Amino acid sequence: MERVLITGVAGFIGSHLADYFLSSGFKIIGVDNFITGSPRNIAHLQYNPDFEFIEHDITRPLYIEGAIKYILHFASPASPIDYLKIPIQTMKVGAMGTHNMLGLAKAKNARILVASTSEVYGDPLEHPQKETYWGNVNPVGPRSVYDEAKRYQEALTMAYHRFHGVDTRIVRIFNTYGPRMRLNDGRVIPAFMGQVLRGENLSVFGDGSQTRSFCYIDDQVEGIYRLLMSDYPEPVNIGNPEEISIKAFAEEILQLSERKDLKIEYHPLPQDDPKRRCPDIGLAKKLLGWEPRVHRTEGLKKTFEYFKSLPAEELYKTEPKDFSDYIKR
Ligand code: NAD
Ligand code: UDP
Ligand code: UDP
Repeated sequence: MERVLITGVAGFIGSHLADYFLSSGFKIIGVDNFITGSPRNIAHLQYNPDFEFIEHDITRPLYIEGAIKYILHFASPASPIDYLKIPIQTMKVGAMGTHNMLGLAKAKNARILVASTSEVYGDPLEHPQKETYWGNVNPVGPRSVYDEAKRYQEALTMAYHRFHGVDTRIVRIFNTYGPRMRLNDGRVIPAFMGQVLRGENLSVFGDGSQTRSFCYIDDQVEGIYRLLMSDYPEPVNIGNPEEISIKAFAEEILQLSERKDLKIEYHPLPQDDPKRRCPDIGLAKKLLGWEPRVHRTEGLKKTFEYFKSLPAEELYKTEPKDFSDYIKR
């Protein structure tokens, strides 16, 4: 059986990738240091003989015995409040973590796919965003720790491709959601759903006119798989092009939850919060024959069901707890 190494496997996207590749007949080596992820996300895999877990901070070198076919490099904080809370780790994992994973790919002659982001476009002046757009990033603003680390990651990946001939892929992920997001990670979907479940009003930042485009996790994973299996080394956008304002989105969540008693409350807009974001997915369609299939109504329903199923204390948790209960070491 061929082996796939996944960094960030205890995170939201990484854990879904593990499930997908296991069901496609691969063995998984999952790596994580639990800085923003949770053992809960991979607890169902702990007795699976095709799943091996290594607790490791990938900003330090990682040596693995035996062959590796593919590396999926997904380790990195992804939520704005996470990367503002741990800015140096965010830069280190994007820079040193990526360097180590490219070194590992080179040593193993493995194909590596790195997780980039729509944040490389910053607060975009072009709309929708095509892969050819170079972006509008504030290099010293609070979000720069994430944006610039991801831009550096892309540059380093292309350098390993061009200079060392490493087989590389770059996915630019746009806002993705689904079960296993952390309820308290501050991103808009867990934030709104948590508020609804606690019976609180929804916190819209700014006047809510800023837009986002939300992709359901199953669509995202399918896009990533197809990109990995393609022969295209340049960046590819994977996301859902259906754009919605955050205010309209808050109203959608209120409707879904049937909490007519709750309202929208307005809070200050965080610095450098992108005003519009929507992927141009023409390249993914042409190259991979991929486009999203899951409509927001369906995806949000599944996500809400997941949050409702969590133990009640999760709702009031402000920080991740001790994870040791979940994992057999
Ligand atoms: P997440 O926070 O749920 O998962 C990230 C995982 O990486 C966590 O389990 C965390 O513990 C782990 N990690 C972080 N630093 C590490 C280190 N130094 N060593 C080992 N493990 C480490 O976030 P996510 O939403 O699953 O995002 C995964 C990847 O996808 C990230 O690279 C992110 O930048 C990218 N991405 C996600 C989105 C999205 O909407 N979810 C959008 C754009 C890009
Ligand atoms: N590396 C690793 N595991 C390996 C091979 C390399 O973690 O199996 C790390 C190595 O420590 C280095 C980085 O990956 O920091 C880049 O490796 P490369 O071989 O490109 O080394 P460089 O040319 O940068 O010294
Ligand atoms: N947002 C909001 N209320 C919240 C959390 C986020 O209005 O409680 C807004 C945020 O300002 C941004 C959008 O929702 O405009 C998406 O935020 P998120 O943190 O999910 O991801 P981003 O796309 O900004 O990385």
